[in-house]
Amino acid sequence: MPDLPPPLDTPLRTLLGPGPSDTHPRVLAALARPTIGHLDPEYLRIMNELQQMLRRVFRTQNPMTLAISGTGSAGMEAAVVNLIEPGDSMLVCVNGVFGGRMADVAGRAGANVTKIECPWGEVFSVDDIKAALETSRPKVVGIVMAETSTGAWQPIEEISRVVHEAGALLLVDVVTSLGGVPVEVDAWNIDAIYSGTQKCLGCPPGLAPVSFSARAMEVILNRRTKVQSWYLDISMLASYWGTERVYHHTAPINMTYALYEALRIVLEEGLDACFARHRQNHLALRAGLETLGIGMAAQEGHQLPMLNAVHIPPGIDDRAIRKGLLDRFNIEIGGGLGAFAGKVWRIGLMGHSSRRANVLLLLSALEQLLQEAGHAFEPGVSLAAAGKIYSAAAK
Ligand SMILES: *Cc1c(COP(=O)(O)O)cnc(C)c1O
Repeated sequence: MPDLPPPLDTPLRTLLGPGPSDTHPRVLAALARPTIGHLDPEYLRIMNELQQMLRRVFRTQNPMTLAISGTGSAGMEAAVVNLIEPGDSMLVCVNGVFGGRMADVAGRAGANVTKIECPWGEVFSVDDIKAALETSRPKVVGIVMAETSTGAWQPIEEISRVVHEAGALLLVDVVTSLGGVPVEVDAWNIDAIYSGTQKCLGCPPGLAPVSFSARAMEVILNRRTKVQSWYLDISMLASYWGTERVYHHTAPINMTYALYEALRIVLEEGLDACFARHRQNHLALRAGLETLGIGMAAQEGHQLPMLNAVHIPPGIDDRAIRKGLLDRFNIEIGGGLGAFAGKVWRIGLMGHSSRRANVLLLLSALEQLLQEAGHAFEPGVSLAAAGKIYSAAAK
């Protein structure tokens, strides 16, 4: 067959960038199960169990907890377009790319958007939010918990209190957070939340877990206007995910298998153990990088364990190192975006990628490439520093 492209022969990479992360082998196996119908009794059982597991991972009792067909951005869009009607006001907190994207989505949905900003790598204080709430009276406040573009970890709980005191709904992006750090939908009183599968859940991209509180559902079910997106209309999706099982669109069956297995894996490990693993690998990586003169870019005390934004050492060529990692070691890490372009690397230790072997592999590969580039340090020093963290934990 001369005019056919070659068969797929994808390389085996180690994904240590800002997502996607490595897919767990059990999830790959789940994807390969035979496709069944989207109204098949077995599929309906899988959906029910999936919803139940999503509630456990989100730590919520919200009935309206499901997986949107689409990536994390579809979850973002679903949350915004269902809560916002044209002319509504929304306050969006922007300290990186994804807060900026949320503001764009809100504007397109017809919201009157007020943006508050803080420098890249930093997080918002409760006072920042309070001050903004005094001047604008928003219906919805949107904020990103784990800003994947900067590595900053935004605390949510206290902010939730002031948002609700001001009578607004709280919308939180946990695309990178879920499965990597604690997310408490009910305890923190979050009204709408969305995530993605390819960051800390060990799954390929393709579904967006979401959850809506009773308050959010009341707002959604009492809209004056139809949701602008037919595909993402929660009231219609509710009839498929609820007991009526009314056909809306064909669910991505095999992706549902994948997420089902991915959530089983997370819950089998246990959420707390999973968070502890992310934290330990982060500490080991950070200790190793420090010995190479590579420091963290996000605010001290607010560094995400699953996304390490680090300063590229002076005189080192960003692209050449990333190309060396990919070509010679099959390792992908991320470059910087926006204000961080050319200045930081983004090293993800997400989900199934967050493993000791990956931390040690990356440090030794980086040592080799940096040494060739003329960066001075004592060979092996970063591995020793990371090893110390692991040995201390083993005691
Ligand atoms: C990756 C990401 C998104 C977008 O998700 P996609 O799956 O790429 O559509 C949104 N918010 C945050 C914080 C992310 O890290």
